[in-house]
Amino acid sequence: MHRKRGRSKFMATIIDGKQVAQSLREKLADRVKEMKKSGVVPGLAVVLIGDDPASRSYVTAKEKSCDDLGMYSRDIRLPEDTSEDELLKLIDELNGDNAIDGILVQLPLPSHIDEQKVIVAIDPSKDVDGFHPMSVGKMLLEQDTYLPCTPNGILKLLEYSEISTKGKKVVVVGRSNIVGKPIANLMFQKQSFGNATVTVCHTGTKDLKKETLEADILIAAAGRPEMITGDMIKQDAVVIDVGVNRVEDSSKKRGYRLTGDVDFAGASEKASYITPVPGGVGPMTITMLLFNTVKSAASRLP
Ligand code: NDP
Repeated sequence: MHRKRGRSKFMATIIDGKQVAQSLREKLADRVKEMKKSGVVPGLAVVLIGDDPASRSYVTAKEKSCDDLGMYSRDIRLPEDTSEDELLKLIDELNGDNAIDGILVQLPLPSHIDEQKVIVAIDPSKDVDGFHPMSVGKMLLEQDTYLPCTPNGILKLLEYSEISTKGKKVVVVGRSNIVGKPIANLMFQKQSFGNATVTVCHTGTKDLKKETLEADILIAAAGRPEMITGDMIKQDAVVIDVGVNRVEDSSKKRGYRLTGDVDFAGASEKASYITPVPGGVGPMTITMLLFNTVKSAASRLP
């Protein structure tokens, strides 16, 4: 990728997540075609409880992506008042179902259901989200496992952009179980994609700007619209914006627009590379879910 020259200053190269995702999906589609010749159709069960519009749109996108790749997807939508026992029973059935290689329960769950109990109930061999403690433990130990989809998508974006992490200072803003913690861990692993020195910031961080200004690679995953401004970014840093925030916008038909955790315009003037929102990390997350499901299905090959 080449840097584009702006009117008066260098502008960042945009890391096109859609393009990277498309190229990975083409490879996955070929793999699915091959597997089908041996009678194996990778299957993903997507479980949605309740009617949250954002969750509904994620789930629909996941199912559509499965169909596009020629995979089997089972759409299970249950009412908001589904009990924890009913959900656990369903998971038990899916664990024993040979047509299902991956089980995804869309989070967040209604408050009467214990999220951790549900995650632990999923057979680790079908844990394509990579949230089961067994998968997390194996990741920490640098053993082969299902990596969580968003962090794995970030690794792929860096790899495709030929951005080395070795010896770099990586600053992660956010410490959630699904993004901040795993990506921070992966970044310092003794692997080709890691070997960085990592700082993790959160709401207890005293001086966020001081930390972010140190970053050669800044990964923003706080869920705070445009909280990372250009003055918080070191010249020529790589900026990965994981945030997906809905901000009210009456000029839009749907009444809102999507924005990241980074002020894109300000950051682009300082960064060497940057991911946009939408079209950066987002398309990679679903792609890595498909990748994990195909990986799981491969164990059924003769
Ligand atoms: P969580 O809300 O679970 O975690 C947010 C983290 O950011 C917390 O650790 C919190 O710190 C930290 N944080 C919040 N505000 C600040 C602040 N002002 N300064 C420093 N740290 C702060 O969010 P997720 O990790 O689930 O998601 C983060 C964002 O990424 C969201 O916008 C989400 O929509 C998006 N996302 C996008 C995906 C994609 O595919 N593109 C996939 C998953 C998430 P503390 O722990 O102290 O509370």
